[in-house]
Parts: sequence; structure tokens; C-alpha cells
Amino acid sequence: MSLLRQIPQVSKLLEVFRGSYPEEVVKRGVRDTLEKVRREIKEGKRESLDDLQELIEKRLRELSSTSLKRVINATGVIINTNLGRSVLAEEVGEFIREVATHYSNLEYDLSEGARGSRLSHLEELLRELTGAEGVHVVNNNAGAVYLVLNTLACGKEVVVSRGELVEIGGSFRIPDIMVASGAKLVEVGTTNRTRLSDYQRAISQDTALLMKVHRSNFYMEGFVEEVRAEDLVGLGIPVYYDLGSGSLVNMERLGIKSHEPSFGECLKKGIHIVSGSGDKLLGGPQAGIILGEKEAVQKIRKNPMSRALRIDKLTLAGLEMTLRLYLRGEYEKIPTLRMLMQKPKELKRKARWLMGKLRSVGSLEVFLVRDFSHCGGGAMPELSLETYCVGVRHKSLSLSELDAKLRKSEPPIVARIKNDLILIDVRTLTEEDLKDILDIFSRLEV
Ligand SMILES: *Cc1c(COP(=O)(O)O)cnc(C)c1O
Repeated sequence: MSLLRQIPQVSKLLEVFRGSYPEEVVKRGVRDTLEKVRREIKEGKRESLDDLQELIEKRLRELSSTSLKRVINATGVIINTNLGRSVLAEEVGEFIREVATHYSNLEYDLSEGARGSRLSHLEELLRELTGAEGVHVVNNNAGAVYLVLNTLACGKEVVVSRGELVEIGGSFRIPDIMVASGAKLVEVGTTNRTRLSDYQRAISQDTALLMKVHRSNFYMEGFVEEVRAEDLVGLGIPVYYDLGSGSLVNMERLGIKSHEPSFGECLKKGIHIVSGSGDKLLGGPQAGIILGEKEAVQKIRKNPMSRALRIDKLTLAGLEMTLRLYLRGEYEKIPTLRMLMQKPKELKRKARWLMGKLRSVGSLEVFLVRDFSHCGGGAMPELSLETYCVGVRHKSLSLSELDAKLRKSEPPIVARIKNDLILIDVRTLTEEDLKDILDIFSRLEV
């Protein structure tokens, strides 16, 4: 009971923290902490008040930090779905800020002084980059798939290979989206093999589309056979290809050893409609890009659900600037592409540098580890990218204790654990991340 009486006056505590945080935050932080401390005393769980100020400080930090925050992605998974998928280029971030904090000509034609279309800012760019006649962009690719099916195949049949009835994650399954769109799914072939004749036989008077779905997050090996989208074109029914990732450039030309179909290539091969995400391999903000035949795309644009799924102005700004970087050939500026293009030699140098610095933190054991990074985000699942990591072990903390501490640091570090080491993969780290990692580890010591 005497401990209760020793609790300093609220006004004294408020005085200590005044000015360091907004007044309302300080009041709430002090009140919350005192309540907790009193409860602990009454329950016999507390013997001193030595850490009172520290507790208040901690509560104040909690109260003033956002829930959504920057984290350091040390996992080496480039398009990390849990950690926000693609990171935008600096220029793109600046442009979003500019548009967000000012008025803009979002739906205003400055030369006519009249109402304009928000998609006008993207149409020419996407045409130039892909050769598409018709262009539509919505909130995300899941929405794009729904819109394409609902517009072009509601009440009709869509033929899909059994090997492509995939789940993308977050309960987005092709058969379910088909039901939601009102289209009738006609499955052909088997899980591992589907032939052109399978599609041919399934075509009826009610067939509206032949659909191909890119196997984004897994790959099949062995006794497998599939029909290329371009070979379906000859069957006389419109072909829709959900590319998933959908790149704007030929990855091999950038030195990335994988072949993801690009929007432009598919259209050149006569595929009628293609769709893909803005924030996977493309390296832009979340968006669903629909390209293809002018008339079909026009119909899709007029679908009332297009309004419900429309692209927001900040996304639009981000996508426009990302597309401009492509047009200028400035691929290095797009973090997703830059991280994919990094060579093992460069990565080794970066990892060695970080290892050298971390060696001076006495409580750590540090190693250079050769390993593999992944593209992630449902793109190029077969691709293992040679990388270098700094493997870390703490002399007094267990692996899971160290991992938890890193996740709670400011900013949090998310790494991967392998063979009783915490691996920090330098592929997904920026210069800023590297500096912050050093700070965080040196603070661990005290
Ligand atoms: C990722 C993906 C989608 C969904 O795209 P979002 O942009 O996440 O909505 C749809 N289809 C395929 C094949 C995908 O890989």
C-alpha cells in the first residue's frame, strides 16, 4: 500500500513529458500507465516504481506511432506480399505526394476547359508501351479478372484448363471468381496435361471466351503439356489471358533469367484481352491493367462495376510516373527491377560491408552466407536468384528472442531464419536500410 502512496502526482509527471509529445497524448499516456501500475501493485505484481518514467515513455511512443509503418525487408523476397509487394521508385513517391497534397487535372481537360477522363493520363502511355488498342485500368487485377468475365461472358461459357484453376491467395480462386461474374466455367484437360483438341471439343454455341491463367505462384514439371495462349487464337473464339504479374519489358533483355509473358508480346501474338497487376513485376502501385481489342475493352469500361473498381488518384499518379520511367528506359530506378537485376558480385560486396560493420557489435557472431533470394508476389516461382546474406547469432539471446527483438525495433526488421542463424539478405535492402540495421544492432548491445 505504501507503494501506491509513493506514485508521483499526475501534474508532476505531466510536467516531465510536456513538450515531447502533443498534450493530449501525454495526458493519455500518463493516465494509462498509472492505471496499469496501480493495478499491478494491488495484484502484488510490483515491488518498485523505478521504471515508471520508462513505462510512460514506452506508452507515449505506442500512442504516437501509426499501425501501418515502414519495415526493413531483409527476407530477400522482392515482391513480398506480406510486406507491401513492390516498392515504388523515389520519383514515383514524390509525384504521388505532389498530387496528393494539391488539386490536379484528374478529370479535367486543361486544353478544352471541360470535364476529362482520369484514364486519359494512362492511355497513351500504355498504348505506346504495349501496342494495345484498348486500355482500361482498375483498382487491382482481381477486379480486372472479374470485370473481363462479367462483361464478356456473363451467362455464357468460359473454357479453362484444369491445370490453371488456381488460387492466387487471399481466397481468390478462379472458379469462385467465375461464379461471382456470372460466367459458366467449362473445365478441360487434366491437372497436368491439356491439349488444343480439349479446347476444341469444349467449344459450343455458348462459348464466350477461352481463358488462360498464368501459373504465378507455382510451377509444374514432369509429364506436363499445356496449350500456349497464342495457339488458342486460331480457334475462332476470343482469348483472354490473365497474366497475373504482367511485365512491360522482356525480362531476359534485362538479364533476368526467366520468361514471364509481357503485355506487348501477348497482344502482338493476337491474344484478344490480357490483364495483369500494377504492383508485381511491373514495380508500380496496386492496379489492374486490362489491354486488348478496342471494342471489347470499351464494353468493359462501360460496365457499371468499373466505377466500383475504379483506380484512385494516388494510384493513378504512381502508375503514370512508373510508366514514364519505363518509357524513358530508366529500369534501374524501379526498385523491383533493380533488385532483380543485382549481380551476385555486387551483393557479395554489400553483404561483406554490412558484415564488417556488424562484427564490431560485441554481442554478435556474424557470418557471410551464400543463399538464394526469390522474386515472390506470384511471379517467376521457378527462379532462384543467387544472393549473399549476413548470418547473425546473438551470444546471449536465443534465435527466436533475437528475431522478436528485430521485429519490434524501430523500424522493424523482418528477416529469415535458416540453420540457426538469422539471415539478412542484402538484395532487398536499400542504403537507408543498411544504416538503420547498423543502428538497431548497436542499440541491441545496451
Ligand atoms: C496476382 C494475381 C491476380 C490478382 O492480382 P491482384 O493485383 O493481386 O488483385 C490474378 N491472377 C493471377 C494469375 C495473379 O497472379
